[in-house]
Amino acid sequence: MQQIGHFLNGRHVAGSGASQDVFNPATGEVTGRVALGGGDVIAQAVAFANAAWPAWAATPPLRRARVMFKFKELLEINTKKLAALITAEHGKVLSDAEGEVQRGLEVVEFACGIPHLLKGEFTEAVATGIDAWTMRQPLGVVAGITPFNFPAMVPLWMIPVALATGNCFILKPSEKDPSASLLLADLLHEAGVPPGVFQVVQGGRDAVEALLDSPGVEAISFVGSTPIAEAIYRRGTHAGKRVQALGGAKNHLVVMPDADLDGAVDALMGAAYGSAGERCMAVSVAVAVGDVGDRLIEKLAPRIRALKVGPGTDKEAEMGPLVTGEHRAKVASYVDKGVAEGAKLVVDGRGLSLQGYEGGFFIGGSLFDNVTPDMTIYQEEIFGPVLGVVRAKSIGDAIQLINAHRFGNGTALFTADGGAARNFASAIKIGMVGINVPIPVPAAFHSFGGWKASLYGDHHMHGPEGVRFYTRMKAITQRWGANPGAEFSMPQIGR
Ligand code: NAD
Repeated sequence: MQQIGHFLNGRHVAGSGASQDVFNPATGEVTGRVALGGGDVIAQAVAFANAAWPAWAATPPLRRARVMFKFKELLEINTKKLAALITAEHGKVLSDAEGEVQRGLEVVEFACGIPHLLKGEFTEAVATGIDAWTMRQPLGVVAGITPFNFPAMVPLWMIPVALATGNCFILKPSEKDPSASLLLADLLHEAGVPPGVFQVVQGGRDAVEALLDSPGVEAISFVGSTPIAEAIYRRGTHAGKRVQALGGAKNHLVVMPDADLDGAVDALMGAAYGSAGERCMAVSVAVAVGDVGDRLIEKLAPRIRALKVGPGTDKEAEMGPLVTGEHRAKVASYVDKGVAEGAKLVVDGRGLSLQGYEGGFFIGGSLFDNVTPDMTIYQEEIFGPVLGVVRAKSIGDAIQLINAHRFGNGTALFTADGGAARNFASAIKIGMVGINVPIPVPAAFHSFGGWKASLYGDHHMHGPEGVRFYTRMKAITQRWGANPGAEFSMPQIGR
């Protein structure tokens, strides 16, 4: 059985002490044991990183960019290898895993332009004989704590921007699918990232708390569920760190009566059931406006019954298993709860069993109609292939419904009416909005982030917001020349 350890100061290091099983979700078999690092491993990693930081921070941005160019090339060469590791431990289908790597790679491409992104502003003569400029400098040692559902893409939202801006980065990946992080470490090392500049510490809560409390860590980027995001934001900021903590979601897709219904149904199929619903931008609520509800259900139900569920390695499969048996039980219990609370279960995905994969963590797609805002399946994030349809009388009611929800990650509107779309995009209290686009994940050179309980902190991830998060602004005012003498009044611009 494979032993999955840490990557410290440029070397793979076996874990000692506690460890945990890693599964192949398609078969249910244990394929490895991942080390659960604690305070001692974090202390080592932080010490290595702080020792490596001055030289890395002093490396010209153009040279750091060249390392990113090399890393991009290595990621391209190793896309299939990385995707296979993701599928083996997460379960998602291979094409989806490759798509995840591609979206991460795009952040590396963004980071290749770092010399331009780090340029400040300059003013000649802010006062007579005085020039001023601003510049952005790295924070120091920063850490990323990432979820199971994107074991390559979410770390890659953080790593390229943090490293290219001159920080050292410690990754604490999900203990459920830890292997992708070690391949990323190998590729970064091969690309020329010096020892100590990028490290991986495997583990769970203990490792996270040690990072949050370490005085040697300047900033924390977190992506995961809302209760943990909130706790990490509180503890990290209390310790004086800069924190961005992205949480869970409940994303609504609104279907207007004038929408291209087949297009909306295709969009819902991919967005609700792709990756078995284990995406923070998955659509889990369809809001049917006016009289479109019955037609929508009629078209959706047979498509969901026909979903091709199978192991991620099966090229025909559209949806793989859930990540663990425990998670499958949780998703099934939400379906039970929806029935108990009075929603109409149109398609029931519970009880799916695949021949030859009876031990796998599979569940079929489920569809509820007549979901109402007071129901648990409406309020909570299920994180599985379960779509609920809510009926709304008007687009105004749909907007009110979405704005009242505690989560604010993504939303979408399907319509043929430009005016309605414009009003929706302006009025909606959600971080990422799609118009006739079901999963509006911003491109790498824009920034990713939700509102409300979907993000704690001020900065979204990657793109310009990522550069701001991982740097501090400095303003410099400079005079060369004659001593102006003692000035007791506030210096006045232009004198
Ligand atoms: P999770 O919150 O269980 O775990 C996330 C990370 O936190 C992991 O590295 C885990 O080891 C660590 N962790 C878990 N419990 C902890 C604790 N008590 N104290 C400290 N650290 C702890 O999330 P998950 O199940 O891995 O991922 C799914 C969740 O992530 C969903 O809620 C999903 O919406 C969210 N997510 C959000 C985004 C986003 O961009 N907003 C993106 C991807 C996933």
